[in-house]
Amino acid sequence: MNYFERIKPHLLPASVEQKEVAEALKEWVYRGESFILDARSGTCELCGQQDLSFHFAIDNRHNQNRLLIGSECIKRFDISVQDALGIEVVGRKAHQKVDADRRELENQARLRRVLNVLVQLARKPRFEEDINVESFAMYYRKNGAFTPRQLFLILWQVEKYGVPYRKTDFKVKLRSEREKEQIAEMSPERMKLLWPAMTPAQRKRAEEARSRMNRLPALGRPAPGTLPGIIKKY
Ligand SMILES: [Zn+2]
Repeated sequence: MNYFERIKPHLLPASVEQKEVAEALKEWVYRGESFILDARSGTCELCGQQDLSFHFAIDNRHNQNRLLIGSECIKRFDISVQDALGIEVVGRKAHQKVDADRRELENQARLRRVLNVLVQLARKPRFEEDINVESFAMYYRKNGAFTPRQLFLILWQVEKYGVPYRKTDFKVKLRSEREKEQIAEMSPERMKLLWPAMTPAQRKRAEEARSRMNRLPALGRPAPGTLPGIIKKY
């Protein structure tokens, strides 16, 4: 069954046009309202796709109907999109707006998950005093990433308490001299914890910082299988 057939039983009852799918689609517009869903619980009210993380609302111009759908369907069916100025666009511009909204939702969802992990950590008994959950949360909100030292402290506790988390949610900052210094001074064991949070470019920068600080010989060679790529050169 092609996509037009698939959406027909969902689209036509909500539209004024009762026969032609292509005509009915023209009645709808996405005005920038989108929502984060818990635990990929969403279903697309147009194509039936399940496990959506986000819903995008499309409204019918002629009646009061609204459908909550996946971002892919807005693009696939070239549904009109209102841009930031309230002007309706289609095609490439519409896709760009949908993609930008989706990225924003992903960032918000990630921030939510990170803050949730911090809240769970704050409730743990004998929580280490050098982790100030509130200030860490504020820092992440502002920067979208942690310093290497902050991140190590968090992940160390997260692992210790078995708090569930997504490794890729925890971004690290590695630009300033202070941040590079923190990485350079870290033991291979600590680095191992941070490794999944780093981008390939950051891993390279970390290697450079470590080699510059000339610290590695003092740390010795870690066990095989740890930190591939960092140690190889030495
Ligand atoms: Zn869909």
